[in-house]
Amino acid sequence: MPELLQAHLLGKPPRPVRTRSASSHTQERGLRSQAAEPCRSAPSAGFRHAELDYDEKLRRHQASLSLAQRMGLVAEPAQPLTSVQWEHVKHASDSRQDSEVPCSICLEDFRTRPQVILSCSHVFHGECLRSFERFAGKRHCPLCRCPYFDATIHHSGLMVWRKKCASRIQRAWRGYTSRKELFNELRDPNIRKEAPALHRRCCGKALQALGGKLEKACEDHEDALERFLQELDGSVAQSSALIREGLCGFEQLHSGMVAPLPAASSNQEAMSKDCPKWSWSTARKAARSRGEEVDCPICFQPCHLADRQSDRVELLSCSHVFHRCCIMSFESFHVFEVHLCPVCRQTYDRRPWNYEAQAKPPRPVVDKDLPHRLRSVPKPGPRAPRLNYRALH
Ligand SMILES: [Zn+2]
Ligand SMILES: [Zn+2]
Ligand SMILES: [Zn+2]
Ligand SMILES: [Zn+2]
Repeated sequence: MPELLQAHLLGKPPRPVRTRSASSHTQERGLRSQAAEPCRSAPSAGFRHAELDYDEKLRRHQASLSLAQRMGLVAEPAQPLTSVQWEHVKHASDSRQDSEVPCSICLEDFRTRPQVILSCSHVFHGECLRSFERFAGKRHCPLCRCPYFDATIHHSGLMVWRKKCASRIQRAWRGYTSRKELFNELRDPNIRKEAPALHRRCCGKALQALGGKLEKACEDHEDALERFLQELDGSVAQSSALIREGLCGFEQLHSGMVAPLPAASSNQEAMSKDCPKWSWSTARKAARSRGEEVDCPICFQPCHLADRQSDRVELLSCSHVFHRCCIMSFESFHVFEVHLCPVCRQTYDRRPWNYEAQAKPPRPVVDKDLPHRLRSVPKPGPRAPRLNYRALH
């Protein structure tokens, strides 16, 4: 091994290579100065330097020499390592299996990330070394504290990772083939008799694997049933519309009677057919069972069912109650469609909460003792002001 390389591997500062004709006193002083500040005089240290080729490194090295160094008055910094010298450095690192253990800075395997080897034969991730240099502000090896003057790319970590991956794939494949062979052997009836316990165990495992696959498939297609039902609903609605159209045509042809279509204009009438009269009392009871004060599901403001403000409340045939202005606003968004209750998604008919009270005004109390001419019906009071829907909230 060359003397220079040996010095690097031992972590010693490099000795000057050139011999000069100056006095020995000057030479010693030059050596001392280099030993004191080896890193500053190293022109091409650093992580980016690792990516350069030898000629470029040498050119930069020559360009960085001071006049005193060129004249041989001061010791010249060590030259970049040649490819042969790098082979020795890499061999020393590989013989210690440095690339098989994690990077000393981040404690992670090298894998496929770029790896750098220093002239002291220690290896690191390129990014980790760059971060270390930025953090420490020095160009020292993080492990041996030796000022490194040369670095290059190393691929040993990548090769180790490839070997690991290959062995893992091989192991998995061998396991798969051996299990398959065993399974095929166990299907033989002779072996089934010879080793019933093994056969049972094998069948159990196969069933377990199938169950796992089925479970995974169900999880993957969890929303498939919902989508299927939605498609089914859509096709049923389409079919019913087609049948209704067909029936209309048939009745027109034979009797001239046209069945009313559930268009937007006749929505209320169509709905009132679907909602029989008795359902209003049921709906009212159901609405009352939820309490006297429930929130309007649209605006989340309270609907007062008991007091004077109940004039503003509408009861739906599905027993849900809303503010009148809210449900009217909601309907105005669906002018050309069948209205569905925003809560339960059913078609509905609606009427005011106080519909019965408004429909049957209380009869005026007539005093029978009064003479007939004085039994005048009291005049109705001033008309109730029209509801201002905008001012309701
Ligand atoms: Zn690292
Ligand atoms: Zn080192
Ligand atoms: Zn409301
Ligand atoms: Zn409803």
